[in-house]
Amino acid sequence: MNKADSRRLLEIFISAGYIPADDKNTADVIVYNTCSVRGHAEDKAMSHLGRLKFLKERSPGTVICAAGCMAQRMKEEIRERLPHIDLVVGPSSIFRVPEMVRENLSGVYPDTPDTVKEFSEYIDDINLEKEEYTGYVPIMKGCGNFCSYCIVPYVRGREHYRSKEEVLKECRALASRGQREIMLLGQAVNAHPQFKDILKGVSSLKGVERVRFVTSYPGKMDREIVDIVSGTPVLCDYFHIPVQSGSESVLKRMNRKYTVEDFLDIAFYIREKVPDAAITTDFIVGFPGETRDDFKRTLEMVEKVRFDQSFTFKYSPRPLTSASKMDDDVNEDEKKRRLAELNRVCSRAGLERNRRLIGRKVRVFASEARSGRTGSYKIVHWEGKGAQPGEPVTVKVNQALPHSLKGLRED
Ligand code: SAH
Ligand code: SF4
Repeated sequence: MNKADSRRLLEIFISAGYIPADDKNTADVIVYNTCSVRGHAEDKAMSHLGRLKFLKERSPGTVICAAGCMAQRMKEEIRERLPHIDLVVGPSSIFRVPEMVRENLSGVYPDTPDTVKEFSEYIDDINLEKEEYTGYVPIMKGCGNFCSYCIVPYVRGREHYRSKEEVLKECRALASRGQREIMLLGQAVNAHPQFKDILKGVSSLKGVERVRFVTSYPGKMDREIVDIVSGTPVLCDYFHIPVQSGSESVLKRMNRKYTVEDFLDIAFYIREKVPDAAITTDFIVGFPGETRDDFKRTLEMVEKVRFDQSFTFKYSPRPLTSASKMDDDVNEDEKKRRLAELNRVCSRAGLERNRRLIGRKVRVFASEARSGRTGSYKIVHWEGKGAQPGEPVTVKVNQALPHSLKGLRED
């Protein structure tokens, strides 16, 4: 999501006549696009922003901007602690930064209910950088699910959906500029009321060769979505469906509106209908009240589904959320132990899923000279002839690792 916003911002700057700088030391404008999903991300952003002080002292004309969720949430603190930051801008107001810079503005510009609702349109101005072949297209903003641990609804606002027409218009523009892969984005992308029509519409656009969508909310996954993916070659066999926990009672306290059984049902349906599809997920360990037994249910979930890849996090209490009022009773050492144990089990499952591909030929879109991704979003490194970014190549897989594949280029 942030990457998509950063790219759009870059495109707006480019169309206003700016040129991307090689690094921050030579930049006239520096924008930090921040995230506040976990405390760690915020701490990192804060320390990066702090370190820019010397740049401002060296060249006072440099404009420094903190943008995004963390900037929205910690605006006062940033103003107080980091006076060298000129602009503090909320996540939906980020696209106004070029205008603010032009007008020499400084100060705090948090999102308002209006900016959250609106989707800026500047499709005609897109200045595609040659090396990017993926177009990131948000189809919704914000989220209204209020999972008890999650700060998103508070910093990004409730959900707002773009119309199918608007989404298709943008995708068409991207495709005609050579972006052959489209990634549809949203916090619960499959909750979009026109989701299925969007999938069908985008995948039938001329020039679009791959379409994927993240993130799918488990409670809104249904068999029809799987059927559409299975019946549409352009739709990638890739499902990112964060389950968070394998324990029924933890899911309940997380306010995730699905059961373990619902999740297994859809995961097994995917495995049956699209056996090569990658299923990836997110887990939180050490949620308030998570017992050893609850955690065992999470390990069992991995054993049952065999996720192709899992992103695992230690629970981090976030301000404003309802879970932050619960007792954060799993101590740090135990969280670390659970995380390590879960990572071991997840890596094994990922390796096993990747091993299935040994000896097979896969189609890879190059992102670098000798690596790229399969439709199922697996990273492949190959030996043999190099490729241009975006070029499709065929690779025969000869080695599987937990998080990537290796092979020889065939064409
Ligand atoms: N919209 C997505 C999640 C977006 S946040 C969904 O509903 O699945 C990305 C991931 O960060 C989440 O899936 C969760 O695993 C993790 N995360 C979010 N809040 C967290 C918190 N307070 N502590 C630890 N991990 C968290
Ligand atoms: Fe956060 Fe839940 Fe919305 Fe995902 S679905 S962004 S975890 S509130």
